[in-house]
Amino acid sequence: MAAEGKPKARIRRPVLLSRIEGSQDVVNMAAVIPKEDGVISVSEDRTIRVWIKRDSGQYWPSVYHSMPSACSSMSFNPETRRLSVGLDSGTVSEFILSEDYNKMTSAKSYLAHQNRVTMVLFILEMEWVLSTGQDKSFTWHCSESGRRLGTHRTSACASCLQFDIETRHAFVGDYSGQVTILKLEQDNCSVVTTFKGHSGSITALCWDPVQRTLFSGSSDHSIIMWDIGGRKGTAIELQGHNDKVQSLCYAHHTRQLISCGADGGIVVWNMDVKRQETPDWLDSDSCQKCDQPFFWNFKQMWDSKKIGLRQHHCRKCGKALCGKCSSKRSSIPLMGFEFEVRVCDGCFESITDEDRAPTATFHDSKHHVVHVHYDVTRGWLLTSGNDRVIKLWDMTPVVS
Ligand SMILES: [Zn+2]
Ligand SMILES: [Zn+2]
Repeated sequence: MAAEGKPKARIRRPVLLSRIEGSQDVVNMAAVIPKEDGVISVSEDRTIRVWIKRDSGQYWPSVYHSMPSACSSMSFNPETRRLSVGLDSGTVSEFILSEDYNKMTSAKSYLAHQNRVTMVLFILEMEWVLSTGQDKSFTWHCSESGRRLGTHRTSACASCLQFDIETRHAFVGDYSGQVTILKLEQDNCSVVTTFKGHSGSITALCWDPVQRTLFSGSSDHSIIMWDIGGRKGTAIELQGHNDKVQSLCYAHHTRQLISCGADGGIVVWNMDVKRQETPDWLDSDSCQKCDQPFFWNFKQMWDSKKIGLRQHHCRKCGKALCGKCSSKRSSIPLMGFEFEVRVCDGCFESITDEDRAPTATFHDSKHHVVHVHYDVTRGWLLTSGNDRVIKLWDMTPVVS
């Protein structure tokens, strides 16, 4: 914990700077142009738009480009001003934006998938275009030759993607709730391992190359932090959403994970805190506190003439307990539970007020967010939504 008197960078409440409206359908993805008063967006309405802030203070399109099919995903590389757009048809189209962001020229097209491209990533260091698709595949192309380098079939629709440049590992999330880790070579790949921990589909992935941590968000409302750099196989669950987790991003300079949920909630997680893994749930045929039998334990029920009880688990110690012995509720932020969860009486006594201090802040974006992007150059957060709106938020940290 931070020592008293030591200045602590804290994120301010997100302050709404601008609303960008005009898209005719869901804005599937958008990004702030670094160091510019501009935003690039792709929408279900088949358009790619570049919005530049005018003297009036409003954002107006400087580029408005219609595509033959809905635009489902995008990746923008500021150094080369290269924009890769994934389409509902399965194609990935590449464009180059002019220096003043008033013009966009078509460069290349890749027939990457059979249907909707769920995520596209352009990696300048390798000149690779990586993509995942609803056709249950992950593919990568050479952006110089346009040639397909390889394909990996996933067991379910591939929904999201991250890449570690240093070790050339790709992380592919899918609808089955699994994350597959692939080691990519120039034209082949091998499965390193799979992460299984979610009970719903993977909706978002975020990679922190500095701490070597992977974050996965799921429709099961949870986020799992997979500590790869720690090399101990630690996986920590973060519970802070009441609905599907839709999108994740990471603010490196403040070490904060930002997650958005289908309920419009933005949660800012302080990742400077050391969290503990949740315990495995213990199995028992009777309450591990009062010894009352659970309902399937007919023998003990008969022998002791007792009624069988339902089994519950304490989230802190993992013990199997009856309802009476686990009637207390507490948040356990250091185990990732920002909401109150079931704990046993013993654990309830051991949790101090200090332990209950939240390690995340909660904000209402007031729209159904489908994608979130953080621009480190300005400390801006961008949310785009089902309501066809893009919102820009100031997240500049304040030192308190
Ligand atoms: Zn009991
Ligand atoms: Zn307990």
